[in-house]
Amino acid sequence: MAFLTEPVPDRGANLPVLPGISRIVANNPGPMTYHGTNTYLIDTPKGTVVLDPGPEDHPEHIEAIMRHTGGQIAYLAISHTHHDHVGALAALQEKCGAPSVGFTVSGLDTFNPDIKLAHGETLAGLTALHTPGHALDHLCFSVPAANGDKVLFSADHVMSWSTSIVSPPGGDMKDYFASLDLLLQRDDDVYLPGHGPALREPRELVRAMLAHRMMRETAIARKLQEGPASTFVLMDTLYSQVDPRLRRAAERNVLAHLLKMEIEGKVIRDGDVWRTP
Ligand SMILES: [Zn+2]
Repeated sequence: MAFLTEPVPDRGANLPVLPGISRIVANNPGPMTYHGTNTYLIDTPKGTVVLDPGPEDHPEHIEAIMRHTGGQIAYLAISHTHHDHVGALAALQEKCGAPSVGFTVSGLDTFNPDIKLAHGETLAGLTALHTPGHALDHLCFSVPAANGDKVLFSADHVMSWSTSIVSPPGGDMKDYFASLDLLLQRDDDVYLPGHGPALREPRELVRAMLAHRMMRETAIARKLQEGPASTFVLMDTLYSQVDPRLRRAAERNVLAHLLKMEIEGKVIRDGDVWRTP
């Protein structure tokens, strides 16, 4: 797949992305977060929307958001309730007082958005698209940029630098496929992901991601035709090249595939192993 890279961004800087849109990259780099979480500042007719406050325990990131917005924040939007996106919410909300915005059903006991958006609802010019798969409460936000670009904040559903982790039970592979299909029906010009740089002509990568996942499923089915195997053994076979730090995440991905295939009647679970029907 044609993934993008970018140099380590200026920490604490407000980096221009498109007219009316900028980002601050949190200092939480890692094998699953790339250079860190993107916190977007979006100019809207209702004021500045901050999308994804970022991870907790990074006070310098909250200070940067406050500095670059002057504390004048209309809404704190949350793409999904993973800690690297929502962790800083409480601390930031305490400082700026803006209401939080998220999906109608939160995936986190400790997060109950002040404003709940269902699929297709619009707030401050941002339209929420429920896109479960990576997380059950995952929202993408669509917005027309000032330069006419149709922008989609794709968060961790589709990222420019890597595939997404789909880890059950919050992650669901069947939902993930459907949410990729949903994006293929649209004509967005550019995706602004939760990690990594902007992605132009985004549907090419979405199509490649779908093809990649189908290839994985075929490989799982083929391996099981040789005999029953555990999730771990399947991961070890399929992901022999993977970064050792990502083996656990890879095993979650394989489990997500197996649960989808189980629903579709393609595999059967026998205790600790999986087999073909
Ligand atoms: Zn993330």
